[in-house]
Amino acid sequence: MTKKENSIQISPKTQKLLRAIPKVDEFFDWADPCAGAPPRILKSEIRALLAAEREAILAGEKRTPSDLSKEKLLPGLEKRVARRLESNFRTVINATGVVVHTNLGRSLLPEKAMASIQQVGSRYANLEFNLATGKRGSRYQLVEELLCELTGAEAALVVNNNAAAVLLVLETLAQDKEVIVSRGQLVEIGGSFRIPDVMAKSGARMIEVGATNRTHLYDYEQAITPQSAMLLKVHTSNFRVIGFTSEVELPDLVSLGKEHGLLVMEDLGSGSLLDLSAYGLPREPTVGEVVKAGVDVVTFSGDKLLGGPQAGLVLGKKKIIELVKKNPLNRALRIDKFTLAGLEAVLRLYYDDKQALAAVPTLKMMTMPLKRISSRAARLVRRIKKELAPRCEVTTMAVDSRVGGGAMPEHGMASRAVVLAPADRSVNELEQQLRDAPLPVIGRIEDNYLLLDMRTVDDGEIAQLAACLLTVFAEKI
Ligand SMILES: *Cc1c(COP(=O)(O)O)cnc(C)c1O
Repeated sequence: MTKKENSIQISPKTQKLLRAIPKVDEFFDWADPCAGAPPRILKSEIRALLAAEREAILAGEKRTPSDLSKEKLLPGLEKRVARRLESNFRTVINATGVVVHTNLGRSLLPEKAMASIQQVGSRYANLEFNLATGKRGSRYQLVEELLCELTGAEAALVVNNNAAAVLLVLETLAQDKEVIVSRGQLVEIGGSFRIPDVMAKSGARMIEVGATNRTHLYDYEQAITPQSAMLLKVHTSNFRVIGFTSEVELPDLVSLGKEHGLLVMEDLGSGSLLDLSAYGLPREPTVGEVVKAGVDVVTFSGDKLLGGPQAGLVLGKKKIIELVKKNPLNRALRIDKFTLAGLEAVLRLYYDDKQALAAVPTLKMMTMPLKRISSRAARLVRRIKKELAPRCEVTTMAVDSRVGGGAMPEHGMASRAVVLAPADRSVNELEQQLRDAPLPVIGRIEDNYLLLDMRTVDDGEIAQLAACLLTVFAEKI
């Protein structure tokens, strides 16, 4: 007995109950239904379960000796063990309509990329081995030529993510020197990426010019000093300044840079290889166009509009990229073989625009015809409407989906959502129950409705989503 139990009066009845709690070893021998579980997990869960029983008894909760029998305790143990054995990484159904959802894993990878990752994970590969010479090779060569071909860049390298790419490039080219950037572009991207902070970490001195809403070419020009190294343009990604605004176009910045012998860099953020304006999306400069405008270096993310794995792509002039490659910091930020394998497979799909649009899930979801989304919504409604009545009203409505990942923040893509209006519980409770489900469903609450935007729900997930809803409503609350 512990000191605490000694110090207070324990009734004979409570003492009897405490003695009825099985010993850990005894319980361990009973627990063969959990036989698949590693013994250390089984033992720690038995201890936790028995400790909880003990506390419940001491707190005066109702128990009889038979509540402490094998039959009564075993189901609780099985539940605990099952929960422990479950992966922390859970598949979820994204019914938010946000295609590049940073919290849900950003881009889904094409099948070809998944096959490539599987292959490189289970077999040896020429990651850093030149098969022609038999000597050490460079991991960047596996994607550099492809990237150059697709964008017109002279050279390329790839690092962990775009934040790393920006840090690495600034550290290589502008440490202890001045970098001129517009006040309208000092952005913060989710997850604490802030241009001024990254700049400070790189050792570059940030020279802000212009005003939040308007920056002119002469603002940059007047800020140039003998210490200046670079003119930086940053894609404002997740926000827009509207109204009386003015930004310097990239070609003008490039001319100014040339005139004064300064480097010109653009952090393009999302970075699309395709012009998606033909599909009703806003017109954005493609990576190829930025390269063509003559920048020395451009960086962008692998898992935003490109639709690949998390990566930071650095493209530009050969001389500049060589310097970046040689920076020891590059080694600390390097990309792993899985990412490279996935990235190469995704890039190969871009040899043909049509192929990319059909096979890269991010592009496919962004350009999905409304008709197709509406028919998904109708399919889900057919599976649940009657079954859920009268506990929940099921309808559909027109909604706007978002690209996400900071891309095209103002643009709503016309979509269709299944609308749930529960009558037997609050919409907040429903939202939480769907998150708690074995296959969690993530929707969004608007007014007093739960909306399931069907743009990001795959055809193959509709039956699972329906089953989840039926189970949640079948459970008494
Ligand atoms: C998203 C974004 C970043 C950060 O990219 P990660 O790949 O998430 O590290 C940096 N700059 C801009 C402009 C962005 O949009």
